[in-house]
Amino acid sequence: MDLQLICDLLVYSNDVISEEKDQEGKETLEVLKNTKKILEIINSKNPGSLGLHPIIYFYSKKGNFKPANFYATVLFVRELKQKKQFDKFTSVRAEFEEFIYKNDYIIDQINRNLRSTKKSAIPLKELFVLIMDSLADGCNEFDIRQAIKKKYNKINLVNDEDEIGESFNANRKSETYISTALKSVVRCGICGGVVHVNSSSVDHIVRKRDGGLGSAENGQITHPYCNTGYKN
Ligand SMILES: [Zn+2]
Repeated sequence: MDLQLICDLLVYSNDVISEEKDQEGKETLEVLKNTKKILEIINSKNPGSLGLHPIIYFYSKKGNFKPANFYATVLFVRELKQKKQFDKFTSVRAEFEEFIYKNDYIIDQINRNLRSTKKSAIPLKELFVLIMDSLADGCNEFDIRQAIKKKYNKINLVNDEDEIGESFNANRKSETYISTALKSVVRCGICGGVVHVNSSSVDHIVRKRDGGLGSAENGQITHPYCNTGYKN
């Protein structure tokens, strides 16, 4: 992590950071604690962690770190926490992840059009909120893509990369790619979202107190939050 990234992370994880000198270090400690909390929600073994998979949220398909997406994820998680919307997010999470993974080139366009990582963080966070809200309202992928086109300037819904020299349909090509890439990942037994190895837990399908066994057949891999906090 470079220094700029750490500074930005502190800013995005906190409501306000005072400009005044912090003689006793209390405020500094508070800022660090808030930041740690947000990072733990994003990806950790903690019971409340959503266990967001970096590849889905802030890495490109080619494996490059995308700072603007990372900041947007921090802001998004903070908002979910403040508005107590973890359950709402979890109820549409599988579709949400599929959408942002499949339509990552749209997110990249918004980022490019704004010309700076810092300017992109809030609009991308709002995009995440728009996608979540639309899915919760029962919208399909087509509707959401139209809503994005309406809200953000100069969005091209066709992926240029797919068009270059391709003999078969662009959509089909990306679908094939996604189905191969996403087929091999582990999915949460409760919400269907993608599970990351560093942030997972095992849920007893039949609860122990209802006579469930600790055997492999009675266990399913879940996100920590889905296992402990999710009420559906
Ligand atoms: Zn889950």
